Amino acid sequence: MVEVMEFDAVVVGGGPGGSMTARDMARAGLDVLMIEKRQEIGTPVRCGEGIAKIWLDEVGIEPSNRWIALEVNGARIVAPNGQYVDLTEELAGNETGFVVHRDAFDRALAEDAIRAGAKTMLKCSATDVIKDERGFVVGVKAKQWGKEMELRAPVVIGADGFESQVGRWAGIDTKITAKDVNTCLQYELVGIDIDRFYNEFHIGSMAPGGYVWIFNKSSDSANVGIGVNLGMVKEPGDVKRYLDRFIEDQPRLSKGQNVETVAGAVSVGLPLESVTTDGLMLVGDAARMIDPLTGGGVSNACIAGQVAARVAKEAHEAGDFSREFFQRYEEGWRAKIEDQLFRNYIAKEKLLELSDDTINKIIDALQGYKIERITTADILRMVQERYPEIMDELADLL
Ligand code: FAD
Repeated sequence: MVEVMEFDAVVVGGGPGGSMTARDMARAGLDVLMIEKRQEIGTPVRCGEGIAKIWLDEVGIEPSNRWIALEVNGARIVAPNGQYVDLTEELAGNETGFVVHRDAFDRALAEDAIRAGAKTMLKCSATDVIKDERGFVVGVKAKQWGKEMELRAPVVIGADGFESQVGRWAGIDTKITAKDVNTCLQYELVGIDIDRFYNEFHIGSMAPGGYVWIFNKSSDSANVGIGVNLGMVKEPGDVKRYLDRFIEDQPRLSKGQNVETVAGAVSVGLPLESVTTDGLMLVGDAARMIDPLTGGGVSNACIAGQVAARVAKEAHEAGDFSREFFQRYEEGWRAKIEDQLFRNYIAKEKLLELSDDTINKIIDALQGYKIERITTADILRMVQERYPEIMDELADLL
C-alpha cells in the first residue's frame, strides 16, 4: 500500500541547496520535509571543498571549526610555464577563502534545518513528481527501504543536484550538451609540498576546457583535482591520464599518497532558462546555478535556497503556487547571482580559445603588479603594454 503524507513543502535533496531551503522554510513556520536518497547527509563527498567566505554571513551560516579544514588568503593562478599571479581572496571567486570538510559542512547545514523544525527522511528517493488535474506539481512519489509513498505538498523544491531528474519530470527543459559539462577527478594527496596560504588554479592545455586545482586541506595535504570539458574528452580514461600526468610532472606532488578519490561532473554552461513551473522551484546545481568558470556551486545553491524559501512562504500566504507567482523566485535569485554567472560564462568561453603561449603572456604581463583590485579592463591594459600582438585575440573580452 502506498503511504500518503502531507506537508507545506517537500525538498528533494539534502545538499547545501536543499538544507538551506528547508532551514529557512522551517524558520518561516512551514511544515517542511527534506528527503535524501543517500543514507547519510554529506557523503560521499563530491567536491574540491573550496568556498569563499563573503557569502556565509549573507545566508546566516556561522563559520565553524567543525567544518573548516583551512583558511587561505587567496588564489594562485598558474600559467602552463609555471609563472603565476596571486589574487586576494576577494578577487579569487567563489572557491577561495575556506577549504572545508564538505561532509561535515553539509551535515551542519542539515542539522540547522532540523533544529529550525524541518523533518528529514534519508535513503528516500524521489521517483517522480505528482501532478494534479491542472498540471500543477503537488508532491513527489518516493521510495524508502522498498516502501512506496506519496509526499504531497503545494510547493516542491528540486534541489537534487547536477543529475537532477525532478525538473525534467515536471516538464522543465533540462537538456545539456557535452560542451557545457566538465568531467572531474580529484585525489586528496597527503605528504605534499604546498603554499598553504594559496589555493592553486592551473590553466592551460594540461586541463583542456577546464583547470587543475590544488585546494589545501592542511600544511601538507590538498585536494588535487582536474576538470576537463566533456566535449574535449576523446577516450574514457583521458581525465585520469591528464591528472596523473600533472601530478607526475611535479615532484612536490608526486611524493604524496592518495587517501580519497572523487569523481563527478559539473555544469559549465548558463543556468536553465526557466527554473520554475507550477508548484515547483529548482535550486542549486539542479538549476545549473554553478559558476561556469570555477565550477563552484555551494554558495549559489545556498543563496538561491534562501530566496526559494522566502517565495514559498509568500506563496502559502497568497494561496498561489503558480508559475506566475514563482516569477518572484526567478527574479530574486537572478538579481543576486545571474550577472556573475553570465560574466564568468563569457570568460570561460574565452579561456577555452587561448593557447598556452597566450596564457603565459597574460600571466607574465601581470608580474610585478599588486593585484588587490583588478578588473578585466586593468588586465587588458597590462597585457597591451607588454604584449600588444595578442590583443586581437582578447578584443572580444572588452
Ligand atoms: P548537491 O550537493 O549535489 O545535493 C543534491 C542532493 O540531492 C544529493 O545529496 C543527492 O544525493 C540528492 N538527490 C539526488 N537525486 C535525488 C532523488 N531522486 N531523491 C532524493 N535525493 C536525491 N563547489 C564549490 O563551491 N567548491 C568546490 O570546490 C567544488 N568542487 C567540486 C568538485 C567536484 C569534483 C564536483 C563534482 C563539484 C564541485 N563543486 C564545488 C560543486 C558543488 O559540489 C555543487 O555546486 C554543490 O554541491 C551544489 O549543491 P546542491 O545542493 O545544489 O546539490
